[in-house]
Amino acid sequence: MSWLPISHPLLKRFDTWGTPVLAAVGLGLLLLETRRPLRRRTRPRPERWVRNVLVAAPSLPAMRLTLLPAMVGLGQLMAPYRPPFSRLPEPVRTLAEVLLLDYLGYSWHRLLHSPLLWRFHRVHHCDLDMDLTTAWRFHFGEMLASIPYRAGLAALLGVRGSTALGFEVVFEACTAFHHTNLELPYAVERRLAPFMVTPRAHGIHHSMVERETQSNFGVVLTLWDRLHRTLRLNVPQQELIIGVPAYADPAGQTVPRLLQLPLEPQDAWARPDGSVPEHPEYAGPATALAE
Ligand SMILES: [Zn+2]
Repeated sequence: MSWLPISHPLLKRFDTWGTPVLAAVGLGLLLLETRRPLRRRTRPRPERWVRNVLVAAPSLPAMRLTLLPAMVGLGQLMAPYRPPFSRLPEPVRTLAEVLLLDYLGYSWHRLLHSPLLWRFHRVHHCDLDMDLTTAWRFHFGEMLASIPYRAGLAALLGVRGSTALGFEVVFEACTAFHHTNLELPYAVERRLAPFMVTPRAHGIHHSMVERETQSNFGVVLTLWDRLHRTLRLNVPQQELIIGVPAYADPAGQTVPRLLQLPLEPQDAWARPDGSVPEHPEYAGPATALAE
């Protein structure tokens, strides 16, 4: 399949440079979040780590063998048709491609919270704590479902495989960063949060309070959340309860169940005992980062 070139030179370069960079970023973040935790853990780490790594085990190879080659192959397939972005001069084209890719990441994430795709995405959200391993805990079905949007739509608009793979390294590094349980100094994070998605901001997206989950969908830049009025930074981290209420029981989160969760019916946004997690609305503007 020429549109799925799994050993294209661009993918070999990704293997040679991108993968070691991401492994080093992951290891660095793991050490940092262990030294400076942001939120108190509610579950033992081994319990979640084993589960998260096993859920990720089919997803990461599937990404390398399908999504990444599709980005390269579909980009090549579209090139002769001179799609819109291909008519822009360099370096405007590269900047436009990068902004589009991040916007596709934001808008795809919003779609993941729609009823059909939530079946897959809830596997990621029902983790009862957050750390680096949460960044890998995606159902492989979610990854496969993203191909038409993140690779197909990007190629249709003229994003080249080289830009898509280069940006993918940034995208994955930022995904790892904002899922970590790393306490950045508040003064530093307050300055970062207006521009990029930070651990405190993404922690709010993993809240059991529904309106907090429906906020902070961005991956790299907070610009898209700001434009769509989905940015919410004013929730104190100590108040957050991480997870999805229907899956609040850790005993129910076995790996086989998580892998078949997309086939299970949708649950109401409530705990098994019927209670609905809630917070008061916080004072101050939603865009002001709370500690
Ligand atoms: Zn989400």
